[in-house]
Amino acid sequence: MFQDQDGIKELSAAIAELHNGSRPNTVLPSDGCLAQARKSLIQTLPEAGLGVQKAIRHLMEEVASGFNASSRSSNYYGFVTGGSTEAATLADNLVTAYDQNVQVHLPKETIATEVEDRALSLLCELLKLDPAQWQHRTFTTGATASNAVGLACGREYVIAEAGATRNSSNVSVGQVGLFEAMYQAGLDKIQILTTVPHSSLSKAASLVGLGRTSVKTIGMESSPHKFDMSLLKKNLQAPGTASIIAISCGEVNTGLFATSGIEEMQQLRKLCDTYGAWIHVDGAFGILGRILDAADYTEIIRGCEGMELADSITGDGHKLLNVPYDCGFFVSRHRDLAQHVFQNPNAAYLNAAPASNAILSPLNIGIENSRRLRALPVYATLIAYGSAGYREMLERQISLARGIANFVLSSPDYELLPQLSKPAEEVLATIYIIILFRAKDEALNKELVQRINATSKVYISGTAWDGKPACRFAVSNWKTNAAKDLSLIKNVLQSVAQEWEASKNKS
Ligand SMILES: *Cc1c(COP(=O)(O)O)cnc(C)c1O
Repeated sequence: MFQDQDGIKELSAAIAELHNGSRPNTVLPSDGCLAQARKSLIQTLPEAGLGVQKAIRHLMEEVASGFNASSRSSNYYGFVTGGSTEAATLADNLVTAYDQNVQVHLPKETIATEVEDRALSLLCELLKLDPAQWQHRTFTTGATASNAVGLACGREYVIAEAGATRNSSNVSVGQVGLFEAMYQAGLDKIQILTTVPHSSLSKAASLVGLGRTSVKTIGMESSPHKFDMSLLKKNLQAPGTASIIAISCGEVNTGLFATSGIEEMQQLRKLCDTYGAWIHVDGAFGILGRILDAADYTEIIRGCEGMELADSITGDGHKLLNVPYDCGFFVSRHRDLAQHVFQNPNAAYLNAAPASNAILSPLNIGIENSRRLRALPVYATLIAYGSAGYREMLERQISLARGIANFVLSSPDYELLPQLSKPAEEVLATIYIIILFRAKDEALNKELVQRINATSKVYISGTAWDGKPACRFAVSNWKTNAAKDLSLIKNVLQSVAQEWEASKNKS
């Protein structure tokens, strides 16, 4: 299987060492390591190659010393990074070793597409979505691509619906393009109605020809992440306009959810059915909240309740599912629509005559044609840990997040955002895996992210809130150890505040 057994042995050992090993306990490489690694990069293509051994040694000993510990260390809290479970890591190496192409369903030649379908079906079960109802399912590179798939399907649907109301049946963007389809359907405009969207929703809107300005936020003034239902209705009624509703099921700055319970989702569904609108859910990390069942998580459970009423859902594999990068997923209840959007026409060699319930060739229901077997790490990790294993991992992560939030709430130096005038227990009950906060001292607040990250003990992201800098912890690693990680974080936050006080007193 491998050309160079020694090289692979060394590589396997190095991977194990990365995961369990005795490496320095820092989340970022030092400036010196970065500079050295950068300097080591080979600048021009060698005429005679270095050979496999030398090339791999160069990667391991020089290049990799310039990488951060983003998924290896549970103390990397930047973005929503996730890690990679042991099962997923090993499976991901097998994906490369077997190098299957999952573009066409070829049941007589390989079960690769069946593994993919099974993985997606298990994933539906994990998320309490009935696989029989969610038959258009595919893997993407990440949530951004999955959002683009969602908007492409939504666009196809809402234009066809508008066409049907003026007796132009079967108007298809996939077939005739956006301009012609809009004309046939009698539409002037398509809008995406949402609250607190992730930036990638606008990017996806640009990509599918709707444009970034088609994304309209219609949140309530008092709580911007919640839909203003009367404003929503007014927008849905706009003449000559078709609408896609995008639900932020877990907002990336605060971790808050755009909806709060089945009644609200039923209300949204009814409005959308009345006006021929499509509901897309961006649940990149939030959708995993559906695996929770204990009373401690009622707020979160309600935040992802009723998502089965949506038309399509985006999720990320490389975040809370803790599989390696290059894995998002998309599920939709509209199987036929998938082919209107993604069909490769007139490619006889690609056809595998699909029966009505057969597995559809991935190339006709998703963005790529050729691609790797992204499903294998997902399949491996789901069967290795099961739903109870995933629930336990997520509960550990929430426990740490609430521990951090509780510390910030009671700290004289820091304050939790958004500032909700509620009792502490109520605020803590809303905490999922994200903690947004700032320093009370404005001058410290301006430097806070750099000062925290300079410790290299933890890494966090900077963002802005209410026009001021703010910091964000995103807990998303399966290795999270709530007690140990919390004590490290408390030490870091306390020492940063103390050093700031000391430096102020000196000057
Ligand atoms: C991370 C994230 C995205 C983008 O995901 P990628 O996997 O980076 O493409 C989209 N939406 C939400 C809510 C996210 O948290």
